[in-house]
Amino acid sequence: MREIAILGSTGSIGTQALSVIEAHPDRFHAVALVARTSAETLFAQVRRFRPRMAGLVQKPIDIPEDLLFCEWVFGEACLRTAATLSDASDVLVSVVGFAGLPAVLAALSAGKRVLLANKEALVAGGELVTDAARKAGQLLMPVDSEHSAILQCLRAADGNAPKRLILTASGGPFRTWSAEQVASATAKEALTHPNWTMGKKITVDSASMMNKALEVIEAHWLFGLPPDRIDVLIHKESVIHSMVEFEDGAVLAQLGVPDMRIPIQYAMSYPERLPSASNRIEFAQLASLTFEKPDMNRFPGLSLAYEALNAGGAAPCILNAANECAVEAFLQDRIPFNRIWQISRDTLERLPACPARTLSDVVEADGAARRMALTLV
Ligand code: MG
Repeated sequence: MREIAILGSTGSIGTQALSVIEAHPDRFHAVALVARTSAETLFAQVRRFRPRMAGLVQKPIDIPEDLLFCEWVFGEACLRTAATLSDASDVLVSVVGFAGLPAVLAALSAGKRVLLANKEALVAGGELVTDAARKAGQLLMPVDSEHSAILQCLRAADGNAPKRLILTASGGPFRTWSAEQVASATAKEALTHPNWTMGKKITVDSASMMNKALEVIEAHWLFGLPPDRIDVLIHKESVIHSMVEFEDGAVLAQLGVPDMRIPIQYAMSYPERLPSASNRIEFAQLASLTFEKPDMNRFPGLSLAYEALNAGGAAPCILNAANECAVEAFLQDRIPFNRIWQISRDTLERLPACPARTLSDVVEADGAARRMALTLV
């Protein structure tokens, strides 16, 4: 039985993880559930899944009498409490943004297996997080569908080292739009993803392709390949979730319907595969699978990932922080869509490259980047 603590249980990944737990009650139990502000949803989850601990990041509120059977923790501290809970074997980190980093580090230093849905933690603190995982003797389990796909391809490769990683990208809702149309895209348009149902931040990131930029950095840290051996390929059907090329030119791909419950369940049951109620690919009904090169002119955010990785140190952290601020400003209607890239680029260019070896290095770089990005907003 795996005892799973879920940080961000009311979000898109959290609720889908609970549906996986519900489908395999003999294998998984939710030992802790933590939400930021969605108290009513959290109450319903606690009632249904009966964790040992529950937490709300927001200020304390009255807890219904029938839910007092578990320990309640309030405030930012509840993330760390859940991440280090003695009965937890696994910690699913599905909170959004840089805020997930301290929880990831706390879980690893407590020897937990981390199921990582929070890519920003790895982008901002790649060196710290991978070091902590190595010291804990734990594999970082990617929940991101592309990275789950790469992990599955590597496991099928019998120890042979990859030559090149090919991350696929749906291209998002603006794939066919002109640069002028993209420039004036609204939040509503950016929040309409063609294939995946996800949270707001990641949906905007998918529209700007900053999500893929962050995923290139994430892949670098998870699989240890240099940026020039990590490629991005537009594949609008989202059937191939990513591919790995080997020395001899052979390519392994992982395919499946676009359903996050598949990579979530794989991260939970790894290295085993369990039955799933997800739909199956009907190959005969797939008219075609298409591929195209990403257009860096219309989607300049992608090139920032390579620039940040080549600059090293805290540059990826700075890029991530600037993007988080810019996305928030875009969602508040304070900047047009294409300013997300400009603000990210300008922040990256204006701040000096500094080291990112300790948590305080990273927190400092993140703070400086946010202040710069806000000024630019
Ligand atoms: Mg992804």
